[in-house]
Amino acid sequence: MKIAFVSSEVVPFSKTGGLADVSGALPKYLAALGHKVAVFTPLYRQVRDKFKLVKSKQTVSVPVGAETVTGEIWKGAFPGTKVPVYFIGNDTYFDRDGLYGDAKGDYEDNLSRFVFFSRAVLEALKALKFKPDVIHSNDWQSGLVPIYCKVVYNDDPFISQAANVYTVHNLAYQGLFWHWDLPLVNIGWEHFNYRELEFFGKINFMKGGVVFADMVTTVSATYAKEIQSDEELGAGLQGVLTERAENLRGILNGIDYADWDPATDNFLTAKYSVGKLGGKAECKAALQKESGLAEKPRTALVAMITRLVDQKGLDLVAAIIDEMMKEDLQLVVLGTGLEKYHVLLTEMAQKYPRKCALFLKFDNALAHRIEAGADMFLMPSRYEPCGLNQMYSLKYGTVPVVRATGGLADTVTDATPETIRAGTANGFSFVPYEGSALLETLRRALAAYCDESKWSKLVATGMQQDWSWARSAAEYEKVYEETTAEKRANGTPSAVSELRA
Ligand code: ADP
Repeated sequence: MKIAFVSSEVVPFSKTGGLADVSGALPKYLAALGHKVAVFTPLYRQVRDKFKLVKSKQTVSVPVGAETVTGEIWKGAFPGTKVPVYFIGNDTYFDRDGLYGDAKGDYEDNLSRFVFFSRAVLEALKALKFKPDVIHSNDWQSGLVPIYCKVVYNDDPFISQAANVYTVHNLAYQGLFWHWDLPLVNIGWEHFNYRELEFFGKINFMKGGVVFADMVTTVSATYAKEIQSDEELGAGLQGVLTERAENLRGILNGIDYADWDPATDNFLTAKYSVGKLGGKAECKAALQKESGLAEKPRTALVAMITRLVDQKGLDLVAAIIDEMMKEDLQLVVLGTGLEKYHVLLTEMAQKYPRKCALFLKFDNALAHRIEAGADMFLMPSRYEPCGLNQMYSLKYGTVPVVRATGGLADTVTDATPETIRAGTANGFSFVPYEGSALLETLRRALAAYCDESKWSKLVATGMQQDWSWARSAAEYEKVYEETTAEKRANGTPSAVSELRA
């Protein structure tokens, strides 16, 4: 298959969040499956200055409102591969410090910037003679792509024959804009209604993507269900997502074992693997030392590595900290984020200096050392579209203790007598968003920790599981096949065609 992958951020070129990690990994794995993949992303200043790219002879011209805007096409590739990455350049829009904004907030012309980008990508496909079977767009920044395919390029088989797959990575950011800017989008007011682009009086790019795409995906099966049923998690789009239920899939992100594997991780004091866990004990001793905690090999070392934001369940930890500290455990927290959590955690660490260590910073090497040195990893998230840390923890033999939501529910199997017997248990989980539930679960985990044979079975199960991108890419491949087949058979299965029928 020929796959055009459209994303506003792609590792290693640009990144603000998880979207960049997915965009930097999935295309490479799709290419490894034998597909012809081309990635399209903006030429930000930081990319132009840092990476060696080749400027193509072709340019594209697209309308943004009444103006015709020209874009350059630059070509690069993922390092060490031949998978092409095409950068759409326009200095007025992308020669800036930030991707979407600066310290003052979002750029005021974000609507125009991503109108331009989305249309320019479609024109670039034609200029490059890359006729895709699938156009895979992501998050609000390329939410307009499926709309343009259906509304503007409907009579252009080069574009309209492609199946549109659209992935929601984060429903919290939908790309909302003032309705009077619709003329800049260059689609008619007839599309500004509650079934299509309109959202409480505003233009909603993500809603457009969800409504117009042939297939919608999100980053875990449980999150796919939650965003249809839960008002908070659906963020106002639950009705639209429910309408797309038949064409909505959850595909878990993968993790990159090239970076996260204790057998090859150069950040660690000692390397280890499932059959040879001696190195993990060394990593634990080293982490206790680095954290200023007593070097006690049989005291459970519990870790958190997280953005310090409301999503991550830190209020639950705060609620039970006094009870928690009565247990035979040590706690290490690495994170940065909201000031209120910096204060809260600092108070906690000051109150329990011998049992609680705190690192208020972003430090990737330390994150690796913590994953390796800890016995348990705590993720009591309020919601978690996918979550990566619990998958790293499983690979590092660090047993996750999580709230069963989103991707956490899909990756962590609670240790019950049945799951232990079946050999599927790999961690501990709870459902109610309550401190008491977290405490009870943590106590279950601590009890299991004291039973060495039970614990080593849990550790081994997690370490042997496959959370790789290869597995996720195979699932995307299936979705592409299904969507292209359905499109060939029935034309366009988007909600809009049903609406119009
Ligand atoms: P989210 O995307 O919501 O932040 P994930 O678990 O999906 O949560 O991914 C978080 C990623 O960021 C992980 O790779 C984690 O190790 C890393 N991370 C978060 N905070 C820090 C920090 N303070 N220092 C180092 N790495 C961090």
